Amino acid sequence: MAETTTEFDAIVVGAGFSGLYMLYELRRRGLTARVLEAGSDVGGTWYWNRYPGARCDVESLDYSYSFDEDLQQEWKWTERYPAQPEIQRYLAHVADRFDLRKDITFDTRVVAAHYDTPSATWTVRTEAGDRLTARYCILATGCLSVPKAPEIPGLDDFRGPVYHTATWPESGVDFSGRRVGVFGTGSSGVQAIPMIAQKAGHVTVFQRTPAFSVPAFNGPLDPEWEREIKTNYAERRRQNRASEAGIVRGDNPQSAHDVDDEQRQREYESRYTKGGFGILGAYADLMADQRANDTVSDFVRQKIRERVTDPEVAERLLPWEYPLGTKRICVDTDYYETFNRDNVTLVDLRRDALETVTANGVRTARGEVELDCLVLATGFDAMTGAVNRIDIRGRDGAVLAEKWGAGPRTYLGLGTAGFPNLFLLAGPGSPSVLTNMVTAIEQHVEWTGRCIEHLRTHGYRTIEPTVEAEDGWVDHVNEVASMTLFPKAASWYLGANVPGKPRIFMPYAGGFATYEKQCDEVAEQDYRGFALK
Ligand SMILES: Cc1cc2nc3c(=O)[nH]c(=O)nc-3n(C[C@H](O)[C@H](O)[C@H](O)COP(=O)(O)OP(=O)(O)OC[C@H]3O[C@@H](n4cnc5c(N)ncnc54)[C@H](O)[C@@H]3O)c2cc1C
Repeated sequence: MAETTTEFDAIVVGAGFSGLYMLYELRRRGLTARVLEAGSDVGGTWYWNRYPGARCDVESLDYSYSFDEDLQQEWKWTERYPAQPEIQRYLAHVADRFDLRKDITFDTRVVAAHYDTPSATWTVRTEAGDRLTARYCILATGCLSVPKAPEIPGLDDFRGPVYHTATWPESGVDFSGRRVGVFGTGSSGVQAIPMIAQKAGHVTVFQRTPAFSVPAFNGPLDPEWEREIKTNYAERRRQNRASEAGIVRGDNPQSAHDVDDEQRQREYESRYTKGGFGILGAYADLMADQRANDTVSDFVRQKIRERVTDPEVAERLLPWEYPLGTKRICVDTDYYETFNRDNVTLVDLRRDALETVTANGVRTARGEVELDCLVLATGFDAMTGAVNRIDIRGRDGAVLAEKWGAGPRTYLGLGTAGFPNLFLLAGPGSPSVLTNMVTAIEQHVEWTGRCIEHLRTHGYRTIEPTVEAEDGWVDHVNEVASMTLFPKAASWYLGANVPGKPRIFMPYAGGFATYEKQCDEVAEQDYRGFALK
């Protein structure tokens, strides 16, 4: 198939929530498009992350597309927080229902995208050497789609199998009776550890930084609740779009300092017992004021103590080094209770330093633990990883990875100067990972669809952010982040989990509704800040 040339209006890279809806939107507007996907099926995150316990932490009725009333009415979720197979089935259903697969090429990794100024087209090259050309290139490559290479000394010496949560074998893994070592206690680790512990002979968790986790209280979807939402689904979705987190969580406009201790405890307790991360909406200043945040961090730390039987183990599980919420809060099922099991051991690497992985296990300052297999829940090269892995060249041969060498630069997270007709979905500089991502993705897809239609109806060949608008937006993103507590955590939001990655707070922390308003104003003002030619 190498060296074929095909013309499309748009090429979309990635077939997760973003790429699928983008394809639908382009078609709806009468454009031709081809989606190129490295995986063998649709789903993106939900295709790759098949580890035991993988599930969403935004409720199913909100973590789903809103663009088609029949789709949202007819699809039946079984659980409040569905597991990976169900979300994957849902996305496969969407692909089939709207006949999307015929325009998707699977098992195809895009390695380059080069812009040609005279013809104003993008040529996209795949790993197999195929070339496709299009007017628009749309990157739906995902914020969390490139597993981070683990920096664990001696890993290559280990004789047993090593599994990364984000590239989990499709056939599953049988842990029965095996001695399992787990590295990584972020969202994936917190979900996987309780499930692995139910099967394994013994699990040793090597913890570098403890998580803040709150219970999901997951269970079958309450039919009454489902009926209530579905009776007026449009209104629910409107409220999600009008919120700052892309999800209704009853955000309280009060400051945590406006109420006394007792009232605050009651508020936290009531939100905690509902499950999920609604606790973050308890007070308006939790993410902006250290003292306010201390009150909720202390509350959750106390809950951790209550959930763990051995006080010493509990102490080791307490996060002290960052404020709650500044690293993505985890939503768990029996995470802390898992450390009450006889077959689970916690090794706190802050106290017992990691020396090396050996052929037979892991050696810390305390000695060697013998293991049969290792699980790495060590996260992702987030937000820029997938984009920077593609050789993207814009006007005058500008190389995107070089332009972003000191951190990503975008206007609204939607485009970047010097790269005409290149669109990013949920890109750095947009709310993306700080929100219900399906809400964020739908807004980006719809904005991009409208923008492309505007270009076509007005006879413009290209659109590109101006350098001034982009500089202004990057300053704004940084300024907003600096008004929050987010920079206090060495998080993947900041690129701090990847050695050598520039430390720039990448998502837009100004809130979803505020952000969408700005995007709409830009469009209404003839795409202010973009050069249209
Ligand atoms: C375990 C896990 C749980 C999550 N839970 C939630 C949640 O509860 N709520 C929430 O809001 N968000 C959650 N997220 C974030 C999640 O990534 C988004 O919600 C959403 O699925 C992103 O969709 P996407 O289409 O933008 O990206 P992805 O789903 O990541 O899809 C991107 C696709 O692009 C493909 N791709 C990338 N580069 C190339 C290339 N060069 N060539 C070809 N194909 C390429 C990838 O193979 C991938 O399939 C979770 C993420 C993870 C990892």
